[in-house]
Formats: sequence, structure tokens, C-alpha cells
Amino acid sequence: MTTSAQLFEQACRHIPGGVNSPVRAFKGLHRPPLFMERAQGAYLYDVEGKRYVDYVGSWGPMITGHADPDVLGAVRERLDNGLSFGTPTAIETRMADLICEMIPTIEMVRMVNSGTEATMSAIRLARGYTGRDKIVKFEGNYHGHTDSLLVKAGSGALTHGEPSSPGIPASLAEHTITLSYNDADAVEACFEEIGSEIACIIVEPVAGNMNCIPPVPGFLETLRRVCNEHGSVLIFDEVMTGFRVALGGAQAHYGVLPDLTCLGKIVGGGMPVGAFGGRREIMEYISPLGPVYQAGTLSGNPLAMAAGIALLTKLREPGFHDALAQRVETLCQGLQERADAAGVAMITQRAGGMFGLFFTGQSRVDNFAQATACDADVFRRFFSAMLDEGVYLAPSAFEAGFMSSAHMPEDIQKTLDASEKAFAVLA
Ligand code: PMP
Repeated sequence: MTTSAQLFEQACRHIPGGVNSPVRAFKGLHRPPLFMERAQGAYLYDVEGKRYVDYVGSWGPMITGHADPDVLGAVRERLDNGLSFGTPTAIETRMADLICEMIPTIEMVRMVNSGTEATMSAIRLARGYTGRDKIVKFEGNYHGHTDSLLVKAGSGALTHGEPSSPGIPASLAEHTITLSYNDADAVEACFEEIGSEIACIIVEPVAGNMNCIPPVPGFLETLRRVCNEHGSVLIFDEVMTGFRVALGGAQAHYGVLPDLTCLGKIVGGGMPVGAFGGRREIMEYISPLGPVYQAGTLSGNPLAMAAGIALLTKLREPGFHDALAQRVETLCQGLQERADAAGVAMITQRAGGMFGLFFTGQSRVDNFAQATACDADVFRRFFSAMLDEGVYLAPSAFEAGFMSSAHMPEDIQKTLDASEKAFAVLA
């Protein structure tokens, strides 16, 4: 049997760091990453045949569990028709109609192939629409690896200590203004000074790339107000939160409505898909209707649309998100009780189907400074102990955890039992 460690060694020969996305490498965790062979429901199975209860869910898309038969069936049904035509297909219209129905602020939508493409295109559109260059983002938010947005970013960029990446021209980065998440006063002050130069604010309405940080009351409302006052575009990056925090995304959950929304992950059912959409007046600036260019050889790919539509349709089942949030609550409460009993300083934060664990004595974590002040070494040891017990958490203290509807009470119980052992090791 080939082990994960052997496969990792082989991978490192021709793949930088052995991985095609950095956070998969388990860097800093003092163990090689696990190579997975297959996945089913709430479980991942590694190449050595070991089973893990999975709270990563391919970083978000697998909200009904892995290898969902309805999603796979929809893909199988289309497969023999061919993989891609490079022409319009009726299934793209079905996807667009579905997205616009589920997220009413989206009046028109363009499909792309990743979350990165969605945010990159939304930013270009906001700049083209307003005729302004400056954009506002928040420290520790991650919007993909597009140049303008890889300034003080979260996720793998933060995990690997490169929140502001080399390779981005200073002349471009200088148009990106980075403020502290959940700091409404800083946003007001910034707009008071240079509001007329700001094309857009882009924000994760729940931050999921510096662990899980919900917005404090009034924060999103302030963003909406200053954008209205200064003619700037408000972009919600719902690549992670879309269809997860609530059926209609974080915007439905918190009742603050953006001009543009970026989607990814769940919208493709596990296929490489993203989307951006919003107010008709703005979206009409996109080519071929308008002057802002954006395109994609494989955009709206029929297999990807089939997977996404099948998944989105399942989420509309009444009560789906309430049940998902209930599972998250059970897990977080159970973990909190066990951490407290073991005397480990830990808190949990959550929003709908996503959650985070912070190893800290703080009573809450609202921003980047507080998130990065948590104990990284305790996280590393906890992660490793949980992995040994068959629970696969995100391999970074700066990533959110994801629940799926395939996580049964016994899976959550197994997780809690594992945590009891892990906390005992830490204490
Ligand atoms: N925006 C957010 C909020 C994300 O979490 C991510 C990826 N985790 C992205 C954008 C980028 O998406 P992708 O990795 O599909 O390019």
C-alpha cells in the first residue's frame, strides 16, 4: 500500500509544495498531508483506507455531503451529450433563473469558473461602472488570489504568512485600501476623506478566511449606508456564505442588501464554478451589453451547471438550513462543554452552516488582530489529535469549519468523543 507520506514525496517532485492549493500542504503542522481516495456523505477515506468525519467539505461546496447521488446523477445524465460546446445552452438559463430566484438582489448573473474569477470580475465591473479606481477591503478577508485583492488577505495567504503577496505591482496595490473588519468608524472616516474616489467595498459578510467571524450589529448596515451616500458599489463576497449561512446567503440572514454578489463553491456542487451578479443597471455594463470585458472558454459548462442546479434545488427543501444550523449549534456547544471541562481556553463562533474554534481567553473574536492573537500552537496540537481520532478539521487556524446535512448525530457524537481525548492531551 502506498502511504500518504510516500505520495506526498512523489507529488513534491513536480508540483510546488506537492499541492495545487497551498493550505492543503499542512505546512507548519509537522505532518504530511493526507491523500484522499474517495468521499461519501460526511466521510473522507484516505489512501490507507482510514475514514474521517469531514468538516472541510471540499472547502464548502459539499453542503449535502460528498458524492451526493442527486448531484452525481445530474452529471451522469448530461455526460454522454459532451463536455463542453462553447455555445449557449438552455441549462445556463436555468441556472441564472434559479440564482436570481434564490438571491433576489441578483437581477442578472454571469457564470465563471472560480470564486477568484467572480471577485476579480466584480471589482472590474465596479470600477468600470463608477469610473473610479480605489477599492476598500478588510484585513483578513480573502477574495481569491486576484492581484488587487491579495493585499492583507486571509485564508492560505495568512496561514503561510504571506497576506500581501510579492508579484503584485505597488501601483496596483496602492488602489486597495484595507480597513479592520467590523470597524464601522474606520469605514465612515475613510469615506468622509475620499468617498468620491472609491469604486466599491468588497466584504465577506461573515468572515470565513480568518476562522469564522460574523459581522457585529451595524457593521454591514454602515457599509450599505456609506456606499449609498458616496455612489460606491457594495459587493458581498458570498463565495463561502452563499446558500450556506441561509438559503439566500448572508444578505438574507442579516437583511443588508448589496449591489453585487460573488458566488462560488456550493453554486457549482463541487465542480469548478463561480458567479457574479446583481443590479441590472450595473450588470448591463458587462460585455457584450456594455464596455467592461469579461469572458471564459468554459464558463457555464453544462456538466458544472447540472451539478450546481441539482445541489441548489435540494437546498430549497423547507427547513434545510435550520437543521444545518442546529447541527452546528450541537457541535459547538458540545465542544465548548468539553473544552471548559478540560480547562482549555477555547471559544466557538458560528453563522448558519459554518463555524470556527478559537483557542483564546478572549470572550469573542471580531477582527484580524484578535484572530491572529489566538494560540496557534494549541490549534496545531488539537488539529493533529483530532486527525489521529478520525476527525478532519481544516488544517489551519484561519479557516472556517463547514457542516453538511450528511453529518448524522452519531458523527457529531464521534467528533465530541474525539475532542474529549484531544482536549485532555492539550490540558
Ligand atoms: N472568496 C471567498 C470568500 C473565498 O472563501 C474564496 C475561496 N475560499 C474565494 C473567494 C476564492 O474562490 P476560489 O478558490 O474558487 O477561487
